[in-house]
This record gives sequence, structure tokens and C-alpha cells, in this order.
Amino acid sequence: MPDGETAAPGQGVGRAFSLRVGILGGGQLGRMTAEAARDLGVEITILEREAGSPAGQIVGPAREIVGDWRNLEARAALAERVDLITLESEFVAADALQWLVDRGTPVYPGPATLRVVQDKLLQKERLSEARLAVPRFKVVRREADLLAAGAELGWPLLLKARRLGYDGHGNATVDGPDATAAAIESLAGSAGRRDGDLDLYVEEFVHFAGEIAVMVTRGRDGSIAAYPVVDTFQQNHICHEVVAPARLPAAVAERARGLAIQAVEAVDAVGVVGVEMFWLDDGTVLLNELAPRPHNSGHYTIEACRTSQFANHLRAVLGWPLGPVELVAPAAAMVNLLGTRSAPANPGGVEEAGSIDRAYLHLYGKRDVRVGRKMGHVTALGDTAEDALARARRAARCIVW
Ligand code: ADP
Repeated sequence: MPDGETAAPGQGVGRAFSLRVGILGGGQLGRMTAEAARDLGVEITILEREAGSPAGQIVGPAREIVGDWRNLEARAALAERVDLITLESEFVAADALQWLVDRGTPVYPGPATLRVVQDKLLQKERLSEARLAVPRFKVVRREADLLAAGAELGWPLLLKARRLGYDGHGNATVDGPDATAAAIESLAGSAGRRDGDLDLYVEEFVHFAGEIAVMVTRGRDGSIAAYPVVDTFQQNHICHEVVAPARLPAAVAERARGLAIQAVEAVDAVGVVGVEMFWLDDGTVLLNELAPRPHNSGHYTIEACRTSQFANHLRAVLGWPLGPVELVAPAAAMVNLLGTRSAPANPGGVEEAGSIDRAYLHLYGKRDVRVGRKMGHVTALGDTAEDALARARRAARCIVW
């Protein structure tokens, strides 16, 4: 019941639907979800290892549980205070989610989805079982598997850790048979060291014309709202810029959108899912990977779409009807603000960036700057992709880290 309201004795005030959502994690994705929750009247409580996290700054100390999701007591403390739980990272162990479900707290996306998606090999297997287009891939348990894959698929190859890869950590390009041992060694931290027991797989190297993404929202009832296809540009394997809508042939965009929806259905996800894809000059579209949560390539939706990815994620996990996803401007561009050196933000730059028409600055409130760390982003709307991108880049350049 809201503060200050009272119910007459015997006149119960029921909860019509869930309004208390817990988030495992308190980074920038949790922060922007909490911002969206405010407008929907949804109360967010987060579980995060350190106090004062980016999301914690939005929900306040009373709704920030400081603890580790690997810890049973911490998970139980969150479950006690919310009607359902969602996440902002795909690295929460599926077993930890199952534990919450077994105790009676619904989790969306559910443990079965996470179990498949958080293991890139199982994810690729699931997608190809569903007859969806993915790069050719092979499991690598030992060095000999990698050599055999090279003979079959050709060099170079992309060797990947099955679990816990992000922003290119966990990937190694293998140029030829002489480079296999070094590539395996470079991933040994995430993949185990024993030949015969490696947690790796390998993909053909895709000579793509471009990288694209679609944010797909899937409701608890299976309803779908798929955002426009966007161009994504990575630097050192980190998403750097996003342009909406993607500049590619309409037939390719349509194929990508359809493929993204089918991929999300194949893993039975609920909530918003970032679907990363490659497109080739011949019009082929291949799935790269799924992220079952709000995603960097969907940040532009805050200003550029009728419903943001964060609002639609909440609507989906709450079982509400999904919001419309159309662009509200002809084009939009997002530029990430990545940490470049250990220096505070330039306050004058914040003001200057704010003065650029139709450019919107988001700073995540991270205390420590590290090189390459996502500190914030800028989205700009424009009449054309070039216009939006120029504006977003100009605003981004004002902020010095
Ligand atoms: P992460 O999970 O770390 O983001 P990805 O597997 O998505 O890693 O790969 C990061 C980047 O590496 C991709 O955005 C793409 O630029 C490149 N990449 C990944 N797989 C392939 C591939 N099979 N062929 C060519 N480039 C690839």
C-alpha cells in the first residue's frame, strides 16, 4: 500500500499484479532498468556486491542488498523482498536461479534459458538444432580437435571459451596449425588446461560485410516485440557505436529480424534479448550470440523508440503487454563512453555535450575509471544515420575520462 493510504479494517487491499522486481546485479543495465521502473511504478531491489553501485545510486541504500548472488543468504534476502527476479548479467549460475524458483520466486529469464545461453557451445547447438543459421562450429576438448577443425573448416578460426566470455575476453583468432597451442594457452584461464578436458569450441572465421543486432522482447505469454535492426561497430571486440536503423538492404534486415525472433524462441527466453548477428555480401545472415538481458546495442531505444528496451524488459518479466517499439526519429546513433585513463569526468564537457541538439548523455556513476570500461554513453537522434552519428560523436568527444 502506498505511504499515507489506509484501508478500513477488514477491507483488504490486494496486490493486482507484481510490482516488486529484484535484479541480480547493479551495473549500468540495472541502473537503466531501475530508471525505467520509476515511470512504471515498479519497485526495484538489487543485489550487488558493493554498496553505491550504478543501480544502487538510483534505488537508494534501502533497496540495495549488498551481497554476492553465489551466496544463499544473499539470494534469499532478495527473494524475500520481491515478487519476481530478473537479471542484468547472463553469468548468474543457472543453478542459483533454479534454487530461487524452487523456493517459490519466479525468475525471468528462467534457469533453463540461462543454462543454454551461458554456455556458448550449448547455445550454438540449440540454435542449429532449431535449423537457424550460425557459423560452422566444432567442440574442442583437445588440441587435436582444433587441428582437425582447421583441416575441415579452413584457417583462420575463432577459438572461444564456452563460458564467461565478454567483450572479446575468451576469444582467440587462430591463424594456422602452428598457432593452436598458443591460442589454447591464451584461453587456459577460462577453459581449463588439461588436453582432453578443455572447455572450448571453435567457429569458422566469418568474413562479414557488417555486424548487426536486434533487441527482441518476449513476454511470458510468448508475445514478441522486435526492435529495428541496428548496425554495431566494435573496437577491440567492445561495442563502440550503434546506428539505427541499420544501413543494409531491406531484404537482409527483414531476414535478420526474423532470425532474431526465432533464436529467442528457440531458447524460450522471457524479457529482452540482445541478438548479435553477422551479415555477408551475398545477403546471408548468421547468428553470432544471444544476451538474455538488456544489451548495449539497445541503449539507443531510451530516446529513439516508443518504448525503451528497459521498460519493455520489465513489462515482459511482469507479464504485462509489451510496448510499441517503433523509432520516433528517422535515425539514431549511440556512442559508448569508454574509460581511457584514470581521470575524472570533465564537468565543462558534460555541459557542452548537453548543449548539442537532440543528443542525450548518460553517465553510469561508476567510481573507478579503467581503460576500456563502459562509463556511459551518448545517444543522438537525427534526420539521417550520418547526421545522428555526427551529433553523437561530437557529444561523446566533449567527455574526457
Ligand atoms: P563476446 O561474447 O566477448 O562479445 P563474441 O563471440 O560476440 O564475444 O565476439 C566478439 C567479436 O569478435 C564479435 O563482435 C566479432 O567482431 C568477432 N567475432 C566473433 N565470432 C566471429 C567469427 N566466427 N568470425 C569473425 N569474427 C567473429
